Amino acid sequence: MKEYDLLIIGAGLFGSVFAHEACKAGKKILVIDKRSHKGGNVYCENVEGINVHKYGPHIFHTNDKKIWEYVNSFVEFNRFTLSPVAMYKDELYNLPFNMNTFSQLWKVRTPQEAKDKIQEQIAALNIEEPKNLEEQALSLVGTDIYEKLIKGYTEKQWGRKATELPAFIIKRLPVRFTYDNNYFNDKYQGIPIGGYNKLIDGLLEGIEVRLDTDFFESREELTALAETIVFTGQLDRFYDYRFGKLEYRSLTFEHQHLPISNYQGSALVNYTEKEIPYTRIIEHKHFEFGTQPTTVITKEFPSEWEPGVEPYYPINDERNSVAFKKYSDLAEKETNILFGGRLAEYRYYDMHQVIGAALTAVNKYKGNK
Ligand code: FAD
Ligand code: UDP
Repeated sequence: MKEYDLLIIGAGLFGSVFAHEACKAGKKILVIDKRSHKGGNVYCENVEGINVHKYGPHIFHTNDKKIWEYVNSFVEFNRFTLSPVAMYKDELYNLPFNMNTFSQLWKVRTPQEAKDKIQEQIAALNIEEPKNLEEQALSLVGTDIYEKLIKGYTEKQWGRKATELPAFIIKRLPVRFTYDNNYFNDKYQGIPIGGYNKLIDGLLEGIEVRLDTDFFESREELTALAETIVFTGQLDRFYDYRFGKLEYRSLTFEHQHLPISNYQGSALVNYTEKEIPYTRIIEHKHFEFGTQPTTVITKEFPSEWEPGVEPYYPINDERNSVAFKKYSDLAEKETNILFGGRLAEYRYYDMHQVIGAALTAVNKYKGNK
């Protein structure tokens, strides 16, 4: 008999949901995280009453009523709707790509005029089945929007040519022929009132958590503590990079606390030209309609990933997908180790998808025990 039923590596959303559900089922659990706080990438730091999204802007959105009710059972969500603007040189456009964007760009007024304009721009390109992000973007919105609002942003975000990136990345964004600036199509959207830490604290209430604890620094001792392990870190690292390193895109964040009440009038402004080194500026107070006298802004700079640097986005190209498959084949053969979350599954997962995956995984685990 080991001391714990479960050792959960990573106190992010996947680990926290898994821990919560397993705890409800009577399991004895230890959660560890190498960071000095819980929450993984949804962690917020409070600066003079403003919840600062330390690892980038996080907006919760889902179509799944059960997931929405699940998160709302831990913390109430506000009515925040993401409607960012994009700056290209000195021009300002609404996002996502919709009738406001089209009319700002081409002075068109009706959906048919906008469709005709896009059609006119892409007719000569003859794209039948888009093979990469560039072709996908061009076929959806035409050359003007691609050149001004997508190419520069995408290539600095990913550090690769848009022709070398998978098409699905750009399909995350809606394209609409209505005057609607909502960045998401989902039925439910909002920000936890009081910040994401409330959600994580609710999930992990009553559960033992050890922070500043890296699994790989005491792998044997930690493994010996529990019957089953849930690993939410990097899968390639777990297997000592035996099939080569999976690549990621990293970010650095430059936070500034300013003595003014409103810096940019929007939670998110994207800078789409390549020459500006950051992709976006976040003004955190607007996520919660803050009225504080000061403000906190964050510039988000994409950067090259290397071991030791925080891995944020998986690079789901051909080479990495082949390597990942080899790792996941190994993972599937494990009998008392489960893997999940954005890093271990090497997937561009949003929060609601991670929660859904964790609920599925924990139900399977409970069914087997
Ligand atoms: P993580 O949050 O990464 O948690 C993994 C945890 O494991 C980390 O705390 C890490 O420290 C720990 N860990 C790793 N290795 C070890 C180890 N060896 N030992 C101990 N601990 C370890 N989603 C949305 O729905 N909406 C958004 O607007 C949105 N915006 C985003 C913006 C950015 C910039 C990024 C990067 C992501 C965004 N996401 C968004 C996605 C969201 O962050 C993820 O879906 C979610 O946080 C993933 O949870 P996770 O538990 O899988 O991973
Ligand atoms: N994108 C773009 N211009 C923008 C915003 C997004 O070209 O102004 C592209 C870019 O390739 C990005 C992708 O759309 O990686 C997905 O954007 P999203 O806002 O979903 O990115 P995330 O918040 O996950 O970084």
